[in-house]
Amino acid sequence: MASLIDPKNTIEILKKYGFSFSKRYGQNFLIDAHVLAKIIAAAEITKEDTVVEIGPGIGTLTQALAEAAGHVYAVEIDSRLIPILEDTLSGYENVTVIHEDILKVDLRELSESLGGVRFKIVANLPYYITTPIIMGILEEEAPVDSLTVMVQKEVARRMQSGPGSKDYGALSLSVQYYAEPYLAANVPMNSFMPRPNVDSAVIRLRVLPEPSVPVEDRALLFRLIRAGFNERRKTLLNALRNAEDLDCSREEIEEALRSIGKAENVRGETLTLREFAALSDALTKLRRGLPPGREEQSSEAAES
Ligand code: SAM
Repeated sequence: MASLIDPKNTIEILKKYGFSFSKRYGQNFLIDAHVLAKIIAAAEITKEDTVVEIGPGIGTLTQALAEAAGHVYAVEIDSRLIPILEDTLSGYENVTVIHEDILKVDLRELSESLGGVRFKIVANLPYYITTPIIMGILEEEAPVDSLTVMVQKEVARRMQSGPGSKDYGALSLSVQYYAEPYLAANVPMNSFMPRPNVDSAVIRLRVLPEPSVPVEDRALLFRLIRAGFNERRKTLLNALRNAEDLDCSREEIEEALRSIGKAENVRGETLTLREFAALSDALTKLRRGLPPGREEQSSEAAES
């Protein structure tokens, strides 16, 4: 099968099967050979790798992945694409197409069935579920070494940002807790068929062997992060007091903030991940009736 990255070949396949794009499934197929090469290079795929591709479409990226990787598991939700993929990928013995919703695929189970392999995830993601897919994989601590994914440019920026940037928020902290982001390429709208109305970017998230900061109560840390950015204009103190799932008194929050060297009027968007973790540990201690000081964390917080 000829390479589908050539728009002529993509159009031919679409015509042959009378395929019409589904907006509901976020179908914008890649037709730019430079971008395809950048994705493969950023993902650092070798013949030793087992790749999971999310949403192969008609198989454009899948073909390139199959050339580079040991094996590719391509998970596609749209039943109309399954016979097309059988056709376009017929020349590749190292590709398995799985007709399923990626949100229902248990990567741990798949890995165990293959003798415990770790995966590299590569995808031109359907944009309507970018965050649930990425955060689902990271939070479940699935056996995944990296995710190299096409996302909306704005989402890529948010994943990469730190304090002081308007893009810094709960997604930045959640991603950076589990992974190290690297922006591999900016991608213009005309690299796709049909053309989306937003710019895109390829981001690689290298999953860390351990979360980037230690914290006693991970669930509390994430509740603090969500609450801290939910009401951006408020001080962190007020945002946390208003958060229903936190149940913290004003006094507790004030004391915890003091113990990490932060003023009462500090805003959530100025805190680093390490500082959120220190705040979380201070609140955990207070709830146990212990003094909130966290010496090893406050010195780390001061460094960052
Ligand atoms: N990989 C192809 C390419 O680059 O040309 C297609 C990318 S297109 C942006 C997104 C693909 O994800 C579509 O094929 C769509 O049908 C598929 N998709 C959408 N939602 C999905 C889901 N929940 N699980 C698996 N695949 C999904």
